[in-house]
Amino acid sequence: MKAIIFRQHGTLDNLEYVEDMPVPEHGPDEVLVRVSYAALNRLDQFVVRGWKGLNLELPHIPGADFSGEIAAVGDQVTGWRVGQRVTANPTLWCGRCSFCWRGEHSMCDTMRLLGEHVRGTFAEFVKIPARNLIAVPDGFSMQQAAAAPTVAVTTWRMLVTKGQVRPGEVVLVVGAGGGVNSFTISLARLLGCTVWVVAGGADKAQQALALGADWAVDREAEPDWSRAVYLHSGKQGVDVVVDNVGAATWEASLRTLKRGGRLLTVGGTTGYAASTPVNIVFGRQVSIIGSTMGSQPDFEAVMRLIFAGKLSVAIDRVYPLAEARQAEERMKEGEHFGKILLEVA
Ligand code: ZN
Repeated sequence: MKAIIFRQHGTLDNLEYVEDMPVPEHGPDEVLVRVSYAALNRLDQFVVRGWKGLNLELPHIPGADFSGEIAAVGDQVTGWRVGQRVTANPTLWCGRCSFCWRGEHSMCDTMRLLGEHVRGTFAEFVKIPARNLIAVPDGFSMQQAAAAPTVAVTTWRMLVTKGQVRPGEVVLVVGAGGGVNSFTISLARLLGCTVWVVAGGADKAQQALALGADWAVDREAEPDWSRAVYLHSGKQGVDVVVDNVGAATWEASLRTLKRGGRLLTVGGTTGYAASTPVNIVFGRQVSIIGSTMGSQPDFEAVMRLIFAGKLSVAIDRVYPLAEARQAEERMKEGEHFGKILLEVA
């Protein structure tokens, strides 16, 4: 089958387009899906680079997100048939550990991700446990269905399940270009929050406002954006900060919180070694809340809103599968706003 692979860890130059990868062999509780679209995530680039302890079967196929049609169904799968249009939660869980029993699938003892630990979606076919699937309604865009899963489930769990964001709260999103950040703007608006954005450049500030943000500060024009936010809040601070930038912004993000505020994070693109002023944590009684991926209930809750047209995922650009490396380069340069897709079928 056609696929994007890498044979060795390294740079994006290691990504190759091939036409002779074997079709995955699905297990009794899995389905085989013929992929229509796949979507890029920053995770792909971490996986290409590799890290200590990541032992992949090489060559590896990256990619966590897809939409497609079921091509084959395992012996023990019920409720799904060949030809159904589907997408899936990329969080893979064991179903047997104490976290799984509580429905905390993204805390599973052996939590894995499609495309991170097992071969992923940048291919004509992908296999996935049937319990991860959700049906894509007739007439719904297969591009949206592919763009949504990782950002939607990650954002829902961060804001709703873990962050307990409530209507009327001020949510500050630090960074506006990535998939999670742009979806955070839309979801926080839908939840009835006031949404402010720290954008890297005037264009991204405009795009954030177009997505529904109430106010945006351009950190290139206003390097002391933390103070700008503080002044804009009437010297109150904000209820919630979403910071997935990490080391470069962490301390400033903490400083924008009001008493009792929460900092939510699902990643740190500029580095993990951030400095936390402990006096802010106890003095202002703020919480730092981490989150990663999401359970199947998290996934189903947010996908229902997407399928109902209440929420959509911003799509930046669609590339042919064979041009995945160029697509990854675009994401690496930070030129994108929203999700970058690969057209497979
Ligand atoms: Zn488990």
